Amino acid sequence: MAYKTHHSVVVIGGGNGGVSIAARLRREGVEDIAIIEPRSQHYYKPLFSHVGGGTARRSTTVRSQASVTPKGVDWVRDAVVSIHPGENAVVLGKGTRHTYDHVVVCPGIQQNWEAVPGLVDALATDAVASHYDFDLVPKTSQLLHDLTHGTVVFVQPPGPSSCAGAAQKPMYQACDYWRATGVLADIRVVMVVPDPSIFGLDHIDRELERVIAEYGIEVRTSTALREVDGGSRVITLGAVEGTGESEQLHYDVLNVVPPQSAPDWLKGSDLAAADDDGGFVEVDTRTLRHPRYPNVWAIGDAAATTNSKSGGALRDQAFALAKNLTSVMRGGRPTELYDGYSVCPFTVSRSTVVFAEFDDQGNAEPTIPFWKSMYRENRVSWIFDRHILPWVYWNLILKGRA
Ligand SMILES: Cc1cc2nc3c(=O)[nH]c(=O)nc-3n(C[C@H](O)[C@H](O)[C@H](O)COP(=O)(O)OP(=O)(O)OC[C@H]3O[C@@H](n4cnc5c(N)ncnc54)[C@H](O)[C@@H]3O)c2cc1C
Repeated sequence: MAYKTHHSVVVIGGGNGGVSIAARLRREGVEDIAIIEPRSQHYYKPLFSHVGGGTARRSTTVRSQASVTPKGVDWVRDAVVSIHPGENAVVLGKGTRHTYDHVVVCPGIQQNWEAVPGLVDALATDAVASHYDFDLVPKTSQLLHDLTHGTVVFVQPPGPSSCAGAAQKPMYQACDYWRATGVLADIRVVMVVPDPSIFGLDHIDRELERVIAEYGIEVRTSTALREVDGGSRVITLGAVEGTGESEQLHYDVLNVVPPQSAPDWLKGSDLAAADDDGGFVEVDTRTLRHPRYPNVWAIGDAAATTNSKSGGALRDQAFALAKNLTSVMRGGRPTELYDGYSVCPFTVSRSTVVFAEFDDQGNAEPTIPFWKSMYRENRVSWIFDRHILPWVYWNLILKGRA
């Protein structure tokens, strides 16, 4: 069969957003869809935090890309290097040009490890890790498990971030483990966060602050990691804004979530808003359609939506986008509106979760409306986050059924 280079719908990225939207479109009866995705492995990233915190095995977070690609969808194994919305075309790494009637842009967010001087070199030492990377997450798990005394620092970066609060999750789980093994008192735990409070929503902050006090965690608010000296195990911290005093801290273990941004090739395209220096794809935040290119749509971490970036947000976005795109393909209008919902399940111990659900205005938006206190630390949310959601992801979300 000839290699097809035109598709009715091209989906850029076969991650959480790309696979779930392709599957939903298939269920809506759309044919001739291609996913462009360079990786051979597909990850369920929310479980990375559990792996780092010692409550899941890494093998449970990964499946082959072939096994999650929906039936009837072409998988083009390559990366997009440029998009030309005026010509309805994308150019791939191997030089091929693919054209489309509609394109869904969802290549995720870019991790900028080199943005912090010294970090890349420090990651090669035996004291620095990150649970935001499939290859590094076992190191996070091992380092936290083996620590019995000294100083451990966890870093959440400023700027856009994929599930920002996930930076904190392995810390709480590790503290619970250290408390159970009797060494918590011998470990100085420091959490660096970019915002003025631990999360930014009053009711969630109160829950987290209670746990933080119980574990004796030191929190550096409005602070960013400026530099890492992996040789002497010293980090430099500074104010996120302005020129406050910098602080130097010695660490025995350092777990870093890197600064993130829109992918470079997207920043250089015409898809970002003129006044948006972040480079994320401009969309109507409710219909998820591009305002200047009506056959361009975007969801997930790469979209300039106003919600907090998360898989939970994506689930609702994919639902709205599938309805809107099929409606437009059949001559209608986009009428299904995404409401800005997002979620961050904080694993505050190895058996409980603070389940933060909120909209893009910061209002609480519980999935179970009559359970108003669902966000409070509880065991049911843990079971949901650790056991039920991964099953739902592999079996329903990626198949366009949820
Ligand atoms: C450690 C961690 C914990 C998290 N915890 C939670 C949680 O508890 N709850 C929650 O709801 N969310 C959580 N998230 C966020 C969630 O995983 C993301 O919001 C979600 O994966 C975003 O989906 P996406 O499709 O936009 O991007 P991704 O899932 O990252 O997929 C993007 C895909 O695009 C591909 N790609 C990249 N560049 C190109 C290119 N140039 N051409 C073609 N393809 C390309 C990539 O290979 C990738 O497969 C977490 C994220 C992390 C990292």
